[in-house]
Amino acid sequence: MLFRYIIGHDDTKQVLVRAVQENHLAHALLFDGPTGSANLALALALATFANCESRQGQPTDGLFGNDTQANEPTDDACGRCASCIKMGKLVHPDLHLVFPIVSSETGSKPKTSEDFLTDWRKMVIESPYRTLPEWLAFIGAEKKQGNISVKEARSILQKLSLKAYEGCYKIMLIWLPELMNGASANALLKILEEPPERTLFLLATNQPDKLLITILSRTQRVGVRAFTDEEVGLYLRQSLNLDETRARQAAFLANGDMAAALQLLKADPDSGPDRHTWFAEWMRACYRQDLSALVKQAEQFDGFNKEKQKGLLEYSLHLCRDLFLWQQGAESLLRLPEDELNFVKNFGKVLKPAHVERIIADVNEAAYHIERNARAKMVLLDMSLTFSRLIR
Ligand SMILES: [Zn+2]
Repeated sequence: MLFRYIIGHDDTKQVLVRAVQENHLAHALLFDGPTGSANLALALALATFANCESRQGQPTDGLFGNDTQANEPTDDACGRCASCIKMGKLVHPDLHLVFPIVSSETGSKPKTSEDFLTDWRKMVIESPYRTLPEWLAFIGAEKKQGNISVKEARSILQKLSLKAYEGCYKIMLIWLPELMNGASANALLKILEEPPERTLFLLATNQPDKLLITILSRTQRVGVRAFTDEEVGLYLRQSLNLDETRARQAAFLANGDMAAALQLLKADPDSGPDRHTWFAEWMRACYRQDLSALVKQAEQFDGFNKEKQKGLLEYSLHLCRDLFLWQQGAESLLRLPEDELNFVKNFGKVLKPAHVERIIADVNEAAYHIERNARAKMVLLDMSLTFSRLIR
């Protein structure tokens, strides 16, 4: 990961880069950001930058050493030197990765992050905006709890007793340190108290309040804010080549959580009507009490996969909540693009607040039933009939 691939966060990048350049980087940094923020991405970019060979004045380009860039301070890793390439694949021998794993079956050998490293690399290289449930699903352990175990603690100590192989810094990156159990947290604390030389601890957390206070006090906090809707939209357009409407809608639903935005799009491949068109058509058909249109829409809904069905209902809930806010005179709180805003304004005049409340309650319940495998067609049709009667 390179800094330039992370959208926004210029201030944070600048502070980190300057600290490396001026050689006063704290030995332990806590990247504290909400789920789906850039906290892990920034930690990885810093690790890459800190060990980039170009930054250390070793020209990597130009046969005759005339790469003028090489000796000037740069504000990002080169992405081309041997170190950057290994960092990009997360295989640099001085980069140690620790993350939550699931405990092994009773009786079998306890495991550490190392045993799951191939999967973790694959997941994070694909996208650094990830959540614990996604990771557990990635290793087929959805139903289990992830944690950082005692054995892991021993392995951390062992790895850190080794000298840096090639890099300038030996780096211990811990993803979701809040999931360390007592023993591993204490082992980490011990190393943080007496940090080995040229070793960087990069912790990427979503829940700093679950860390030992003593760990908090030995790390320097790097606050990472959530992405803005514009940043999420821009990233989706650039990285997934999404059209503006879809990118905007996903950003609106995700509320600054890049992981959620990417999940939403995975669940909703580029087929069928976009969410807003779907919802607006549904509500209009209810308003017209157009039974044949409603049956048709229920049949179409039935044909979508469950993730898409849930996505549509989730979008409906979001928009109804905004409708409700608009009716309460809180227009300034709405973050809607123009299409949606016009819809909210038009429908806000037609519906009574009590109706909107009822719709929200019913859609919530429908999502619950669909999750539990109720027949989607019946669920939607049932709601449609209720709403038709309600609105009129
Ligand atoms: Zn480099």
